[in-house]
Amino acid sequence: PLVLAIETSCDETAAAIVDGSGQLVSDVVASQIDFHARFGGVVPEIASRKHIEAICGVADECLDVAAARIGVPRLRWRDLSAVSVTYAPGLVGALVVGVAFAKGAAWAADLPFIGVNHLEGHIYANKIATPDIEPPLVVSLVSGGHTMLVHVKAWGDYETLGSTLDDAVGEAFDKVAKAMGLGYPGGPIISKLAVEGDPGAIDFPRAMLHSGDLRFSLSGLKTAVITYLRNEEAAGREVNKADVAASFQQAVIDVQIAKAEMALKLTGAKEFCLGGGVAANPALRAAYGVMCERLGVRLTLPPMSACTDNAGMIALVALDRYREQKFFGLDADAQAHVNLDEPY
Ligand code: ATP
Ligand code: MG
Ligand code: FE
Repeated sequence: PLVLAIETSCDETAAAIVDGSGQLVSDVVASQIDFHARFGGVVPEIASRKHIEAICGVADECLDVAAARIGVPRLRWRDLSAVSVTYAPGLVGALVVGVAFAKGAAWAADLPFIGVNHLEGHIYANKIATPDIEPPLVVSLVSGGHTMLVHVKAWGDYETLGSTLDDAVGEAFDKVAKAMGLGYPGGPIISKLAVEGDPGAIDFPRAMLHSGDLRFSLSGLKTAVITYLRNEEAAGREVNKADVAASFQQAVIDVQIAKAEMALKLTGAKEFCLGGGVAANPALRAAYGVMCERLGVRLTLPPMSACTDNAGMIALVALDRYREQKFFGLDADAQAHVNLDEPY
């Protein structure tokens, strides 16, 4: 089979095609980041409009790339086996564009239609380079909108073990970068800057480290960084931005690692994965390497390019759904929030 996926949940317009062996034969992403950067974050109204402008071209390119890869002169919609789309969670006005487009294509080409949860996609991103990962496993989802530890009991069967009470990790990176005047998105900028800094220079709070549960809180850390910057400025001292970046990042990592270790012990899982945009953070990846090695747990990381939003990860979920013949009706709608734990 050939399953096409569309992803428009935030500020990436993406389309991908997976073949029956789980190989991505096409994986196209058009980022809108430049249009949002000047506002310091994603502007929902702009995201929707840019998706509308981009989606036909992205889908066409996706079909062309797949045709070249498979070695046929042309791939048409009716050559596909199913059309899938991220239907939740995300910016509803952005999701709606992908959902309407995918439904229209499925209807016109008379193909089954599959709805995919974006967070399940971030989990499946691990399968792109490591197809043999098998539940039970623990996955840490760290993205712009989510921070949670999930027990994957089986593919499609998820239990959220704990999540953030306030900001997401990616959001904290973005807000701290903004406070430091570093631009958007903050994650990649902070992680680059942190390489030159001393992670032990400033003792930022490790919130919820000893809470005894798997919940997170990031807003206090963000406030602590902003307060530190203000105090230094008021005292007329020059701030070492690399030290601030490295110390902030280390505070995040310490809590992430401690809670992940708790989750592994709680579930007894022997496999651990990362998902979401923050999974591209080199220091976090390295810290998980050390922790998993110590615990004798197998660590799988998504390829760097598949950490942030893409349609390849959505296509991999859709392939499983296609095999199970679990389809959505064409009356399905985009949804801003959907719990990953709800049975499919
Ligand atoms: P969600 O998946 O929760 O709906 P999203 O799709 O907006 O949110 P992603 O695209 O998965 O989020 O991830 C984007 C986030 O990842 C941004 O907050 C960005 O700053 C962060 N990020 C990207 N690269 C890095 C990095 N190297 N270090 C830390 N954070 C990073
Ligand atoms: Mg994004
Ligand atoms: Fe995402």
